[in-house]
Amino acid sequence: MEEKKCPQCRTYMECLGVKEFRTGGKTGGWHLLLGDFAELQERIMKLEMWVCSQCRQVLFYLPDKSPLKSRK
Ligand SMILES: [Zn+2]
Repeated sequence: MEEKKCPQCRTYMECLGVKEFRTGGKTGGWHLLLGDFAELQERIMKLEMWVCSQCRQVLFYLPDKSPLKSRK
């Protein structure tokens, strides 16, 4: 598995796996975090979640197969 370092303290980050998040609709909280990106992909969004055990920074990455440009 690919290793990632925390941008703040450069500790190796721990992968928590791919999580599914619900975006769009009335759960507007994600707009604060993802902005317009939350509007591009409505409903279920899969994100790879990484956490730094040192400073508790959390990062999200798109899984490789996730289509960025599909806007149905
Ligand atoms: Zn850190």
